[in-house]
Order: sequence, then C-alpha cells, then structure tokens
Amino acid sequence: MLRRAPNGATRVAAVIGNPVRHSLSPALHNAAFEAAGLDWTYVALECADGRRAVEAMRTLGIGGMSVTMPHKQAVAASVDRRSAAVEALGAANCVRWDGDQLVGENTDGDGFVRSLVEIGLDMENRRCVIVGAGGAARSILQALETVGAADIAVVNRTESRAIEAAAIAPLCARVGSFDDIASADLVINSTPIGMGDDAGLSVPVDLIGPDHVVADLIYHPALTPLLAGAASRGARTLNGLAMLVHQAAIQFEHWTGQPASVEAMCAAVGLTD
Ligand code: NAP
Repeated sequence: MLRRAPNGATRVAAVIGNPVRHSLSPALHNAAFEAAGLDWTYVALECADGRRAVEAMRTLGIGGMSVTMPHKQAVAASVDRRSAAVEALGAANCVRWDGDQLVGENTDGDGFVRSLVEIGLDMENRRCVIVGAGGAARSILQALETVGAADIAVVNRTESRAIEAAAIAPLCARVGSFDDIASADLVINSTPIGMGDDAGLSVPVDLIGPDHVVADLIYHPALTPLLAGAASRGARTLNGLAMLVHQAAIQFEHWTGQPASVEAMCAAVGLTD
C-alpha cells in the first residue's frame, strides 16, 4: 500500500511488459521510494509495443522505466543511447534520463554480481558453469567478464545458442559441459527448470560438493530441487530473489541518483536472512 496518495508533483516510474500484472517490481520500487522519502510512485503498465512505450516515456515525462519481456530488444533499439551492456546484449531492462536523452541500461547481470558480493563471493579470477544461454545468462556473462571472471563454461540444450552466448564474453566464456563443474567455483542455473515442469537439461546434483556456490535464478519456488540437492551436499546456495532485488536497486540509483534501501526492498518481497 502506498504511504501517501500521489499528488500533482509526484514523479511516476513504471515497468512495461506483457504480461506484467504479476510483477514484483512495483512492490520493490515503491518500498525503496518510501524508504528514501521520495515523492515517486511506480506502476505496472501492460503494453504491446516497446518502441511506442519509449515514445510515451518521452511524451509523458515518466521518470524511469523498467522493461520486461517481450520488449527488451525493441526498447534497446528505440532509446537515444545505450550502455555498454545494452550494446553487447541488444536488450535493455531499464531506461533512464540523461538530460533530454533516454538511455537504455541492462541491470540484470550487475544485479546478479551484487547478489554474489552480498554473500562474500568475488568472481575475479574465479571459474563458473552457467546452464542456459538465454537473456538472463547473457547479461550474467557480460557482467562476470567485466568483474574479471577467469573462465565461464556455457552449457545449453541448443548448442548454437551456447556459442552465441559465449561470444558475449570472449575474454572468459566458452561452450562447456557438466564436466566443467568439477573445477568451478560457481554453478548457475539460468533455465526455467525447477519452476515446476522439470523435464530437460538440468544440473546433475551428484557433481556438486561443499566447495561450490550454486545459484538458481528462479525465485518462485524459493527452494528449487537444484538448490535443495546442492544444499544437502554442503554447497552454499542462492536463489534468484537477491538478483531481482539488486537489479531493481541499480535501476533506482539510475533514476534518482541515490542509493536504494536494499533492506526495504528485501522486506517488500519477503527476503530475510
Ligand atoms: P530465455 O531467454 O527464454 O532462456 C531460457 C534458457 O533456458 C535457454 O537457454 C533455453 O535453452 C533454456 N531452457 C528452457 N527450457 C529448457 C529445458 N526444458 N531444458 C533445458 N534447457 C531449457 O529465459 P531468460 O530470460 O534467460 O530466463 C531464464 C530463467 O531465469 C527464468 O527462470 C527466469 O525466470 C529467470 N530470471 C530470473 C531473474 C531474476 O532477477 N532472478 C532475471 C531474469 C530471468 P534453449 O536455448 O535450448 O532454448
């Protein structure tokens, strides 16, 4: 519930997507606006056209925009400028103002890296296996290369997509296999396997041990079969909720120029220690 009613001076931020009514972003961002004492409000706008949504942002003076499926590519193509991550990925999950220009950002990968830092994992010179090669995997590959990961093995059902994804991070990424888990510090599931329909290419839990950190980008359910199995084998585990919070916190920083209250955002989505 909003702390105060919006008024004539209230700034509006929004997430666009289709579908978008299920989004946790309004809860996250409204909690952060409230914690910061900012007169902003955040709404979810279901829309069919990402390019026209960017024009609407310009026309209406919307203060910040989050972007979810299926509009990330169209938005990346429609903004005035793109961050290095958006140039590499061809997908934007955030739009911010810089003067009178609209700038596309992609905060997913950096949000994931922050979620690792939060549990004390610095990925510089570390080794990783990422399962999946879609949009989330690509943003993580780009961010892990930026923080100096030594080696990232991409394992994917469709090999051609693994090759494309590895090309996002040419300094450290390559197509790999589950055999790479033996020498990895971090194992990431970036496929939907674990959300309910679990047929497909999933991480063999018997390859996981106590020296691994295992991250699943899924946050509903909070405990996927992979995370449960990894924890039972002594690995440190992380679900996707912290990534969700941190990618939103970076968006908040882009729009307001202030740090977001990660604590307030975590509380808003029921994430506790
Ligand atoms: P995406 O672009 O559709 O990519 C999905 C990937 O999973 C593809 O590589 C696909 O392989 C693979 N895959 C799908 N079904 C599979 C199956 N049955 N067996 C093996 N591989 C399968 O999706 P995305 O945007 O990257 O999202 C991936 C996951 O991350 C989703 O669960 C999403 O909810 C989650 N996510 C979480 C956050 C967060 O903030 N926590 C952010 C973004 C995404 P192919 O290439 O062979 O099709």
